[in-house]
Formats: sequence, structure tokens, C-alpha cells
Amino acid sequence: MKYTLLILSLVFIGFSCTKKEATFQREDGLNSFTVAGLEQYLKTLASDEFLGRMPFTEGERITLNYLEEQYKTLGLEPGNGSSYLQEVPMVEITTTADASMEVKSGKNKFSLEGFKDYVIWTERTDEKIELKDEDLIFAGFGIVAPEYGWNDYEGLEVKDKIVLVMVNDPGFGSTDATRFKGNTMTYYGRWTYKFEEAARQGAKGLLIIHDDVAAGYGFWVVQNSWNKAKLYLDTRGKNNYYCATVGWVSQPAAKKLFEAAGLDWASTVSAARQPGFKGAPMNLKLSTNLSVKAKFDKSYNVVGKITGTKQPDEYIIYSSHWDHFGIGKADEKGDTIYNGALDNASGTAALLELAKGFSSLKNKPNRTVIFLAVTAEEQGLWGSEYYAQNPIYPKEKTVANINIDGINPYGKMKDIVVVGIGQSDLEDYLNEEAKAAGRYTSPEPNPVAGYYFRSDHFCFAKVGIPALYTNTGIDHVEKGAEYGKQLQDDYVAKYYHKPSDEYDPTVWNLEGAVDDTKLLFNVGKRLAFETNWPQWKEGSEFKAIRDRYMKR
Ligand SMILES: [Zn+2]
Repeated sequence: MKYTLLILSLVFIGFSCTKKEATFQREDGLNSFTVAGLEQYLKTLASDEFLGRMPFTEGERITLNYLEEQYKTLGLEPGNGSSYLQEVPMVEITTTADASMEVKSGKNKFSLEGFKDYVIWTERTDEKIELKDEDLIFAGFGIVAPEYGWNDYEGLEVKDKIVLVMVNDPGFGSTDATRFKGNTMTYYGRWTYKFEEAARQGAKGLLIIHDDVAAGYGFWVVQNSWNKAKLYLDTRGKNNYYCATVGWVSQPAAKKLFEAAGLDWASTVSAARQPGFKGAPMNLKLSTNLSVKAKFDKSYNVVGKITGTKQPDEYIIYSSHWDHFGIGKADEKGDTIYNGALDNASGTAALLELAKGFSSLKNKPNRTVIFLAVTAEEQGLWGSEYYAQNPIYPKEKTVANINIDGINPYGKMKDIVVVGIGQSDLEDYLNEEAKAAGRYTSPEPNPVAGYYFRSDHFCFAKVGIPALYTNTGIDHVEKGAEYGKQLQDDYVAKYYHKPSDEYDPTVWNLEGAVDDTKLLFNVGKRLAFETNWPQWKEGSEFKAIRDRYMKR
């Protein structure tokens, strides 16, 4: 009798142990994801009352209050000590550029027209920037990439001069898939990289020659930022060097400059794609002025967490930017509010749904799950950059980042797109979850555009944290892939960064978004229940960074 009791109680203890042993359960929490839930968050964040969610404005205050309230309602703990906020010190720099720029070539003079021919601004906080007969140097792509044996600055004296470079990288449009990454844009192809490199070289200025295809967007996107306020991190006291002026020239204007310099456009541009190309001074002198207003202020990331039960000091970070462009230039219909419904009220809504999913788990996760709504993405990924440079949770202890910037508004898709395919093991997790859901993953349809470098996960990647970023699939369940691709092209043409990016319940269909969010939920959930550390794959430009500090 005694023995039976003992055995029985052992069985009981054993049973309750296995019950307590929290493992990944694919179905746990999935029921909490609903179209209505997602829609409610999305509708609110994208409403006119939120004033386009611009940092430093009333729109920010309303957004922060709303997010903090939702975090609390969903049972998230404060993610930054006792606070849900992380302060991000920033500076808003408003450049007013002269209406034109004077170009001198020998005795000849002509001028380029601001906005139409070029768009320039400064990252400096000086009140006035004067460009007076500054030398212009053509420096190919403006890239220094030791791993590709490429250095466009080698032997060029660019200190205190203006550098003119091409957009994208030499792999783009080449028939050689091993040159950089072929048509897939590398970080070297991004304008942000080119600005940073020119500053490292001590250049006074940098102009990038625009190209619709190579840039991935039209010149109008660049023109949108003409004489507009821009945000940067406040780096006072840090002694960082910034170029006096940076910006873009249109391709027709660049051709004019080439002609004035006596350079043949086609042959120079094609020579610049070849290894060993040497840039040269163009013997042109540029003059123009910029006046500058700098306003120091603070914006905020919103951070909440669910503390893990077994490895609470290991972190999975979901991120999504809450900001958009606020109130600006009216569109054809007279609308001035940039609601950013898809970009990124939708991703922030998904972040809240994910928090709801994790809160609803029967088994609490082993690792800690962080929900990070970041600021100032649209102005240069600043909220995530600040977090990455000033992490609340150490990068050595951060397992992965999963970022959401835009969700699928088009209804159910068979596929989900992995942006930056081949980067990390996280895509294998996604593959598996997609398969389990009867779906599949596909590579991004437009790898040329460099989307892997264009949202907040990139700031995590730059400090070595494996980061997953997905996009809406194109294989529409009812209407097929052609239709799906058409929808996305339409979005870029009609809605992207325009006041018309609004939530319209008669057009949007969030069923596919719920499916995608569930996949991202299950990827994060698996990570939160296991002890594995996903890695960057061989060939990723971020692998070495991670390995450097994770070597034990
Ligand atoms: Zn976005």
C-alpha cells in the first residue's frame, strides 16, 4: 500500500514535471490572432487623430500614450527598468538650400536648379554652410570594400572636396554574379553607406547620381526631402565628422556635369563598374549656400517585455517602427496627413498582436521576449540605431531580432517573402513554420532595392544580432503571382510615403496579415522555448561581427 502510494505519487510528480517542462507548442497562442484584433490597432494608429506619428510632435505624444496603454493592457512588463520608454536624444536639422548651384568649368558657367536637378542637405548643426568654388571629384561608386578587393578612393585626394558617386554597387547590372552580390544590393550600394564612407574620407560633400532602377525608387522620393527637417541622433560631445553637404543629383543633371567636364557619360559609367577603375577630379567648381536650423529634442522608443521563466537573461526582440512623416505637403486631393497605415501603423499593430499572443500562452516562454516599438525609422533608422548603440539588453545575450515593417493588406498568400535570403539561420525557422502552416517562403522579388538595409532589423544586424525581416508574399491564394506582384508595384507607385497610405477597410484584407503574423509568432516562440542560438550564414556580411564577440 505504502509502495503503491509512493509509486503513484512518483508518477504524479513525474507527470506534473513533464507538464511544467515548457516546450515549443506550435498551436499554443495562435487563437489570439484575429483580423478584428489587428484591425483595431491598425485603424487607431493610422487614424488622422494620430497626426501621422511624427517624432517630437503632438502625434508622438498621442502614439506613445496609446502604445504604453496597450502594453499595460496586454500584461507586458516595463522594458526599461520601471519605464516603458527609452529616451532617444536627437537633433532636428532643417536645411534651407539656395535655389540653385553654380558650376564653373574653366571660363564657362552654368547653374543647376535645386529640387529639379539636385537635392542637398547637411548633417551638421552649423548655422551656415558655404560652398565656394569647391572641387568636384568623380569617385565611381564611392565604395571601400576590402572583401571584394574594391577601393574607389584609392589614390584620390578628396579631403575638403565634393565627391560625385554612382548609386548601388558594381555588381548591379553586371553579368558577373560574383561581383559584389550581382544584382542583389549589398550595404555598399546604399546611400547611407556612401555618406558614411565620404565622411570617413574627410570629404566636404557627397553627391549621389540618381537612377530609378539602381536606386529602387524614383527621383521624386529624393525630392520629397527637399528643404525638409531631418532627424539625427544627437552626437554632441562625440567628435563625429559629418560632410558639410550630402545629397543627390538627377541623372540628366549628372550628364550635364559630365559633359562640362569633357567626360563621356556612357563609357565613364561603364568603366566605373570595372575592377581597378580610377576616379579623377572633374575640374569643375561648385558654389552654393545652405542655411541651417538645429533643434535638439528627445524622442522615445517604447519597450515592454515578458520575462522568461528559465533563461530570463536571454532575449528575443520583436521590433517595429511606430513613426511616420506627420503632416506635410498636400497631395492632389488636398490631404496633408501622412497616415502611414501600411508604413508602419500596420507593423506596430502586428507587434501588439504578437504581444497579445505571447501573453496568452498557456506555457510562459523560457527566454525573455521584448517588444520594441522604435522611433524615427523614416528619418534614418534612428530609434533602432540608438537602441543598438545603447542596448537595454546586451547584444551577447540577444538571440535574435524579428522586425516588422508593413504587413500584407491583400488577402491570403501562399508565400511569405524573406528579405535578404541566405543571411541567417532564422530563415530556416521561418521555412519550417511556413511548411507546417501549408505555406512556403520565397526570395524577395526585387533584391536590387536592398530592402535588407532599409528597416530597423539592419541596426541589429550591424551589431551582429541575427535579424529576420519578411515581406508580403506575391503568390495570391485566389489570383496567383502576377496579381500579387502587380499589387505591390501599385503600392510603391501610388501609396508609398504619400498621404494616400491610409487604412481603407473596403480595400484592405487582413487575413493574409494574420497568417504572416502567426508565422513570425511561431518563429519567435520556438526561439523563446529552445536553447539554440541561430547564426549568420556563411557569406553574410554580418557573420564576422557576431563571431568576434560570441567566441567563447
Ligand atoms: Zn517603414
